[in-house]
Amino acid sequence: MATFEYAPAPESRGIVTLEKSYGLYIDGAFTRPKDTFESINPADETVLAEVSQAGRKDVDKAVAAARRALEGPWGRISGAERGKYLFRIARILQERSREFAVLETLDNGKPIKETRDVDLPIAAAHFFYHAGWADKLSYAAGLGSPGTVTRPYGVVGQIIPWNFPLLMLAWKIAPALATGNTVVLKPAETTPLTALLFAEVCQQADLPPGVVNIVTGDGTTGEAIVDHPDVDKIAFTGSTEVGKAIARRIAGTSKKATLELGGKAANIVFDDAPIDQAIEGIVNGIFFNQGQVCCAGSRLLVQESVHDAVIARLKRRLQTLRVGDPMDKNSDLGAINSKVQLDRITSLVEAGVAEGAERWSPECTLPARGYWFPPTVLTGVSQTHRVATEEIFGPVLSVLTFRTPQEAVAKANNTSYGLSAGVWTEKGSRILWMADQLRAGVVWANTFNRFDPSSPFGGYKESGYGREGGRHGLDAYVRTTPAALTTGASR
Ligand code: NAP
Ligand code: MG
Repeated sequence: MATFEYAPAPESRGIVTLEKSYGLYIDGAFTRPKDTFESINPADETVLAEVSQAGRKDVDKAVAAARRALEGPWGRISGAERGKYLFRIARILQERSREFAVLETLDNGKPIKETRDVDLPIAAAHFFYHAGWADKLSYAAGLGSPGTVTRPYGVVGQIIPWNFPLLMLAWKIAPALATGNTVVLKPAETTPLTALLFAEVCQQADLPPGVVNIVTGDGTTGEAIVDHPDVDKIAFTGSTEVGKAIARRIAGTSKKATLELGGKAANIVFDDAPIDQAIEGIVNGIFFNQGQVCCAGSRLLVQESVHDAVIARLKRRLQTLRVGDPMDKNSDLGAINSKVQLDRITSLVEAGVAEGAERWSPECTLPARGYWFPPTVLTGVSQTHRVATEEIFGPVLSVLTFRTPQEAVAKANNTSYGLSAGVWTEKGSRILWMADQLRAGVVWANTFNRFDPSSPFGGYKESGYGREGGRHGLDAYVRTTPAALTTGASR
């Protein structure tokens, strides 16, 4: 637990102990909290804690600490040693996973069964996976090939969204550290608490000071990281709008960026699909994490001949979903992360209805306080409707139909995004053909929303560039230089 002599007594919420206010984590220690803002629980609008708004001077300090660590102890240790730190962090995450799961659910609003069974295990798995790479980088095809040496990129600025706060942190920090970089990370304004708890994990793992720095704040803190002249690379996950703004800001500098942005995935159901499995895949595709998922299957493309049967079964299945208290392990859907997000979902659904879509939700009683939206299905959606083209980022499924595989591909690809897609069919040859035709970074066949650290994840078109996970995810964090131009050996 972070301790502050001057701070009021921490408050205990079951397994989680919350400080009243949090400082920034810079150079291995927490700063005194100042210029704070509140992080709330979106399920009941109560204040959880105050966190600090980092300004440009704070970002300066964090970047300087990261630079010192890079040029000091962290830059000198071997890959095997770096791996040991990552293994240690992975194990601590496992040991403290209940605490992290509860805190994530409180701060984000997502159901505890998801934080417990998905976010935490996968976050730990990312550290285990990358720990394994740390001393084997020269075996990662493309890295350290004969005649070259692999070097870390340097000080990396990392900016992450609120939908998977700890998991996105793990996707960013694990590969950066495995490849020898140091990090200044900004969590999202509405979900900073698990990143601050992760700072304690870094202390517990004896990670050298400055290797990981956590600066909380709003978009201006993000801008300060992006603009900082001593940051070598930006790794960003968030909206396409902010991703484009970052790309413009770093144009003409020596900074590199990887951008993981929005999505509008098609989940495509053919008439020969195993129907019960497909219904579960549709539900998981769009209602997991209240649909606040970049790769959510937000457009259902269903073959015309089975449209009515699929929609009838889907509606029956949705009657069984439980929406409510995210801390209740039986809840399937929790709260929407913020009022801003709830308003955005509401206005887009209203636009869909105004454009002619038919709106349906199962009967459910939503809690009186907090930010809630019922699982919603929009049928009769056409390709030009806003709900078919814009990312809603909520528990809302837009249903379109197709007749032939060619039409399915054309409709699926008719989007400015290209992050993921799903295909449901018995025919293996059709799966392979579809996977080849779909312009999406990930294509799932007879499943959806499967994540594995060994599998690269990333987008086409306005879903961004660069990959996270797998060997490809390592590329983003190294510079490969001809050996003749260097004096050092590959780590
Ligand atoms: P966002 O508004 O773009 O915010 C993402 C992060 O950027 C937050 O930490 C945010 O800070 C910060 N930020 C805001 N303005 C900035 C600026 N001008 N310069 C630098 N940083 C800035 O996105 P979001 O609403 O949090 O997240 C939802 C979006 O993320 C969706 O579009 C979703 O598809 C995408 N996403 C993509 C992936 C993927 O892997 N492709 C994964 C998850 C989410 P504040 O929190 O203070 O605004
Ligand atoms: Mg919060």
